[in-house]
Amino acid sequence: MRIANLAGRLTLLHAGGGIDVEKASDGRFPADPQRVYEQWDEFVGWAGSARGLPAEPYDAGQLGSPAPKPSQVFAIGLNYRDHAVEAGFAVPAADPPVFTKFPACVTGPYGEIVLPREGHTDWEVELVAVIGRRAERVGRTEAWSHVAGLAVGQDLSERRSQLAGPSPQFSLAKSFPRFGPIGPWLVSVDEFADPDDLAISASLNGEVVQDGRTGQLIFDVPSIIERLSAVVPLSPGDVIFTGTPAGVGMGRQPQRWLAAGDELVSSIEGIGELRHRFIDQEAPCP
Ligand code: ZN
Repeated sequence: MRIANLAGRLTLLHAGGGIDVEKASDGRFPADPQRVYEQWDEFVGWAGSARGLPAEPYDAGQLGSPAPKPSQVFAIGLNYRDHAVEAGFAVPAADPPVFTKFPACVTGPYGEIVLPREGHTDWEVELVAVIGRRAERVGRTEAWSHVAGLAVGQDLSERRSQLAGPSPQFSLAKSFPRFGPIGPWLVSVDEFADPDDLAISASLNGEVVQDGRTGQLIFDVPSIIERLSAVVPLSPGDVIFTGTPAGVGMGRQPQRWLAAGDELVSSIEGIGELRHRFIDQEAPCP
C-alpha cells in the first residue's frame, strides 16, 4: 500500500491514481495525513477493501510529506561504516549518535529549497521510517510491526553551523526551513521483499554522489527502534531518519557544497525519488 499527502489531504495511491481517503471513507478517516497513524491498524484494514474504488489522476507537484507534522523526528548519525570514516569519526560500536531534526523543517518531495546565506549546505540521502503503532521498550523482533511504512528522506545539513561550536551542533544545523524533505509517498512495510536491504542513492545535477544499500546500516531499523524506544516512547506518526551512506560533500576532496541552481535527486529502491532545486536567499532590504 502507498499513501500520499496530496495538497494536504490523505490519499491512497492505486493503479496510477489517487483515492481521497476522507471522502471515500465517508469521514471515517480524517483528511489530515498526519492523523492516519493514530488509527493505522484500522486504516490498513479499510485500505485493503478500498482498492476497488475508482482512483483519479493527480498532479504529483502537489505531493507533500506523508508525515507532515510528526510529534518527534529522530535522526541517527554515523550509521554507515564508510560514512563514519569519511566524516572523520569512530564507527559507533554500541550506541549510535541520536539527534533531532526539528519538525518545522519537514517538507515534501519536490520544489525549491533556500540555501542559508554563507552556509555550507550538504546532502544526506536517508531511509525514513514512520511509526504506525506506539512503541515503548520494544525489542527488535517486534520492531517492524510498529512501523507503518518507509519513505525517502534528505537530512540536509548546514556544516558551518554544525561545526562552529565547541562540539558538533547537529539538530539546529539540520533544521533550516525545508531541510527535512520526506516522500514522495509512504510505502507500507509489507510491500518490500526485504525492507532491510534497499538500494539508496543521491545524484547531483545527474552525477551519482551517493550509492549504497540499507543492508549496510550498522544499526538497522529494528535495532534503532529497540534503542530509541528503550528511552523515549515512540508515537504513531513519529519519523526516524536512519543515517546516510558515504558520498556527502563534507567527505570529499575538495569538499563540495550545494550551490544555487543545483538539482538533487534522492532515491530508494521500491519507494521512489525526491527532486529538489536549491536557490540563494534573497538579499535583505537595505
Ligand atoms: Zn543524517
